[in-house]
Amino acid sequence: MLNRIYLRKISILVAICLMVISMGEKSFAANMNDIPAKYSSEINYLINHQIITGYPDKTFKPNNNVTREEAVTMVGRAIGLNGQQRETSYDDVKKESSYASGYIQSAFEKGLLTGLFEKSFKPKEKITRGEMAFLLSRAFQLTVAEDVFFSDVPRSGPQYDAINAIVNAGIGNGYGDGTFGPSKAITRWEFSLLVARGLEPTFRVSSSDLVPEGEFVVTADSLNVRSGPGTEFSILGSLPLGTKVISYKAEGDWVFAEGNQIKGYLHKAYLSKPSTSNKIIAIDAGHGGTDPGAYGNGVTEKELNLAVALLVQKKLEKNGIQVFMTRTDDTFVPLADRVSKSVKANADTFVSIHGNSNTSSSPNGTETYYSTAALNTRAENSKKLAGFIQERLHKALGTSDRGIKQAGFHVIHKNPLPSVLVELGFLSNAGDAKKLASDEYREKAAEAITEGIIDYYNWKN
Ligand SMILES: [Zn+2]
Repeated sequence: MLNRIYLRKISILVAICLMVISMGEKSFAANMNDIPAKYSSEINYLINHQIITGYPDKTFKPNNNVTREEAVTMVGRAIGLNGQQRETSYDDVKKESSYASGYIQSAFEKGLLTGLFEKSFKPKEKITRGEMAFLLSRAFQLTVAEDVFFSDVPRSGPQYDAINAIVNAGIGNGYGDGTFGPSKAITRWEFSLLVARGLEPTFRVSSSDLVPEGEFVVTADSLNVRSGPGTEFSILGSLPLGTKVISYKAEGDWVFAEGNQIKGYLHKAYLSKPSTSNKIIAIDAGHGGTDPGAYGNGVTEKELNLAVALLVQKKLEKNGIQVFMTRTDDTFVPLADRVSKSVKANADTFVSIHGNSNTSSSPNGTETYYSTAALNTRAENSKKLAGFIQERLHKALGTSDRGIKQAGFHVIHKNPLPSVLVELGFLSNAGDAKKLASDEYREKAAEAITEGIIDYYNWKN
């Protein structure tokens, strides 16, 4: 008698559960008025495929949560697992008492639940977004293609790869604030989106709902990317000087941004706005202070470089181009500072001015260097700029044309800006040195460099 009542109670419970999960179908779909319009295609797709159903009162209840047994049942239906009720490997899922036992055991045998639900299944517990990601990445056999970072998903955690996989596949995405919410209970509408996108590729989405707000450039030599807006948060990676980042939102002194495919929080103090249409060029007079550079035929390189650089500055400014000078007097400036200060000053282009030297007195002529390091557009722009300047310069000076060349000099190689290094001529060569010692030729050199820069800007626009 007791047993019979017990069994009857169980069977009523089972019946109710089955109604919630499997009743409704098309007849309910047509009448449910609480399906969010934005996601109605995905939800109706699942309803029509009898994967998710409405409630007997003809509602969908999109904001209700999904239990573990419901989730596995629906995923099991979606991928065609055997749902025949039977004994399971879990101590809390029994054949008689669980309508979901067949799907749960099938999922277990397929390895979909390994590492997710171990000894106990806790069928009535709400399934979280992170657990769903884990389940779906296995159900749909997804792999990680590209790193996508969410501020609340630890890189070392067990769900990291799974969340990455579903985001990569366009099945799941994060929230607008850069989080994924892995420990949040999933809602029915969220669940429906994930499963519908897993089954039907046309529903898939781009990896993030984040809307870019702006663009920044990293001005520190190396800027830490953190998992939250504060130095107490863990470091996820670092971005080198000059890295362009896309910002999504500001939080106090921090911005949530993406650079080099790492998403996280960056401190605002080390970011600057990229230069806009206003042209700002960095002019770098080579050497200075304790570093005299080359010397030959009465000409000291640091002095020559500065004299020409100051003339270039004047001429550019006359043409409405803003100039950032890495030095304006005879001081020593480390190479890395020349670059970082230029980037921080929002310069869009970098020109370093030098004089050449050789142990032999015969080599002579003008040459301009660029570097193919880093970004393709940077390298391409650098090469163009070198060509424009070289063309003007050797003609203006009447020196031999040694052409444009690639080299790994620090200021053009480790520089995020299109950048060139000009060798005006050889101080070790009497003919070149005589010209470079004169104000007349320094003026000509400055004019040619200025025109080459203007040629470049005209080409770019
Ligand atoms: Zn030099």
